[in-house]
This record gives sequence, C-alpha cells and structure tokens, in this order.
Amino acid sequence: MRIAVVGGGPGGLTFARVLHRLGRSVTLLERDPGPDARPPGGSLDLQEGLGQLALEKAGLLAQFQALSRPEGQAMRILDVDGRVLRDWHPGADEQANPEIDRRQLRDLLIGPLEVQWGRAVTRVVPENGGAVVHFANGAPESFDLVVGADGAWSRVRPAVSPATAQYTGVTAVETDLRDVDTHRPDLARLVGDGTMAVYGVNRAVVAQRNSGGQVKIYAQFRAPLNWHADLDLTDHDAVRSSLLERFDGWADPVLELLRQGRTFVHRPIHVLPVSHTWTHVRGVTLLGDAAHLMPPLGAGANLAMLDGAELAEAIATGDLDEGVRGFEERMWARAGRWAQITAAGLERLVSPDPAEALALFDRVN
Ligand SMILES: Cc1cc2nc3c(=O)[nH]c(=O)nc-3n(C[C@H](O)[C@H](O)[C@H](O)COP(=O)(O)OP(=O)(O)OC[C@H]3O[C@@H](n4cnc5c(N)ncnc54)[C@H](O)[C@@H]3O)c2cc1C
Repeated sequence: MRIAVVGGGPGGLTFARVLHRLGRSVTLLERDPGPDARPPGGSLDLQEGLGQLALEKAGLLAQFQALSRPEGQAMRILDVDGRVLRDWHPGADEQANPEIDRRQLRDLLIGPLEVQWGRAVTRVVPENGGAVVHFANGAPESFDLVVGADGAWSRVRPAVSPATAQYTGVTAVETDLRDVDTHRPDLARLVGDGTMAVYGVNRAVVAQRNSGGQVKIYAQFRAPLNWHADLDLTDHDAVRSSLLERFDGWADPVLELLRQGRTFVHRPIHVLPVSHTWTHVRGVTLLGDAAHLMPPLGAGANLAMLDGAELAEAIATGDLDEGVRGFEERMWARAGRWAQITAAGLERLVSPDPAEALALFDRVN
C-alpha cells in the first residue's frame, strides 16, 4: 500500500507520525526546501480533547507537557484607553490549553520521520482507484492514497472539490518584538505571560508571548482586501506608519507595541465555506486547513492534528477506502461545528461593538 501525504504542517506530520507508530510507512512531501526555510509563525495553544488527544495517539503527550507553557494560557483584555478590563491567570495545574512554539511542535512530531523537502506538488489526479501526484520538478508518482494536508491554498483540494478560500473582510498584520524582557520590560509586563488583547471598533491589537522573550503582535481590522493599494507592503516603515494612523488615539503603550515592530507581515484572513464537504473520491482525501480553513481562533492546528491522528488510525487496519470514508464523515461533522463557532467568534472579536468581544471572553471563561 503506497500512501503519500502532501504538506508537513501540524496535520500532515501528525498523520505521518501516528501511521509510523502503527508500523505503516508513508511518503511525506513538503514544498519548503528545509525545516527552517520560513519563519514558523506564532505559538499554538493545544487543547485537551483535540491537539493533545492527537499527541496522545502519537505517543508524544508527555514530551509535549514538558515543552509547553501552561502559563501561556493567561489572558488580559484592555480597552483602547489602556484600562485593564479582564486579567485571567491559569491555576497551577491548568492543562486545558497550554502553548507551544510551532518550531518545537514540528521537531517533536518529525522525530524519526523522513520528510522529502523541496517537493512542491502542483496537482493530484485520481486514477485507477488511486492517485497520481505531479510535482513542480521531477516525474509524477502513483499512490494508493494521497492525503492533502497542504493548507489554505491546497493543490490537492481541486481533485475532490471546487471550493476555494474566501476573504472574511478581516485582515491581520503581524509583527514581533525580540528579547522583550531585557529590552522593554514595560511592554513585557503589559503583555504578561500569555495573550493581551485590546478591542476597539472594527479593530483589535492582540499580543501573544512566545518562548525566549519573543512577543508576536497582530493588528487586526476590517478592510477591503485591497486596503494596501497605495502602500508598498515590503516597505516596513510605511506599513508601520499606516497601522499607527489606523489605530490613532489608542493608549500609548499599546501603540508602542506597533512602533517597536521592525518587520510586518500581511495576513488577510481567508476561510473555506462553513461545513465544506465533497463527494468521496477514491484515492484522495484532505485534512486540516486544506479541508476546513477557518478563522485563526485557536482551533485550526488542533483540528488538523486530530484529523491526522484519526485518519492514520482509520486506515492502519482494514479496507483503505472504507477507512477514508469513515474518517471523512467524522471530520466533516467536527469541522462544521468549529467552523460555525470560529466564524461567529471573528464577527464578535473584530466588531463594531467592542463589548461583543468582552462578552465572548466572559462566556468561554
Ligand atoms: C496568526 C495565527 C495564529 C494561529 N493560532 C492558532 C492556535 O493557537 N491554535 C490552533 O489550533 N490554530 C491556530 N492557528 C491556525 C493554524 O495555524 C492552522 O490551522 C494550522 O497550521 C493548519 O495546519 P495544516 O497542517 O492543516 O496546514 P499548514 O500548517 O498550513 O501546513 C501546510 C503545509 O503544506 C505545505 N505545502 C503547501 N502547499 C504545498 C504543495 N503544493 N506541495 C507540498 N507542500 C505544500 C506547506 O509548506 C506547509 O508546511 C493560527 C493561525 C494563524 C494565522
């Protein structure tokens, strides 16, 4: 049985690692030329019953607990004048949602796996009950099953579904601060051990502590997709000035988080349709963002990992196609619920009425 997974993100790696644990081999195809080809992105909170359950299935839960930061679950909410409205700290043994840096999670999942780096897939064609993978470089290869774990702009998805990611109307611009405890202890205190969020009218600033004194900052706002038409996004000074103008009047320490950022990355928020499903195609399936891209509200990596673990378990024994069908039904039901929750969450967190964000926080805590 030849099985390939396209994409070495949290979903694809968890799939490969659980299959490996179950004694099955898998070809892991990743577009990036190497593990550190791109900055890894902000830290992830992994929930009990989702990402943590997937790690348990991979036999990695204890190692995750040793690496993760339970104190990162802390959450502070400010108003735009800088007044603290909520300041929540986890209890000593709180393990519901600890944070882990993406790089640490990736290394934990890769472990003994052999990743084929620099293998950019261009398309996948179902054929003779299996599928043929085409590459940007190199000859096509045939597999009995190809799993698309290649994220928002999946090249595998068109083999099963015409759906494409759509812009939500909310954009995020990401920057970061390094060695914040040494260089700016005032900003370190402002952010605290976990996440600090400031909600205004149709905009928000969210700052999240990562390990090693790094703080990731996300300026989020409602705007047309081409909001930057008059701006060169590679000109970091110009992007910073544009953000400071957009958040003009907010408390100075909050603006200082943006002023201190050196580089800015544009991340418009896209989603797939809520409850995205497809007619089963023998030989190809999807998981994670490729199947159910949703707003980044703490579910995507968790779901991708659980998808990966469950698909591996479903196909490790018994009929391959039956296993995939059963997995798809289960994934669609779970992802549909989360897509609704996160879509409603984004509406309330970046909303005309900042009280909505506070009410949402009070409801989930
Ligand atoms: C700012 C932000 C914060 C977030 N915070 C959280 C959080 O706290 N908790 C949480 O659960 N989720 C969070 N998410 C969501 C989470 O990042 C994604 O849902 C998750 O990474 C999806 O995992 P994946 O494996 O499906 O896809 P991805 O992580 O997108 O991985 C896809 C992989 O496929 C590779 N690839 C792409 N195209 C090809 C190709 N053609 N050929 C070969 N390889 C290819 C890519 O290089 C990549 O390695 C956040 C997202 C953002 C943007």
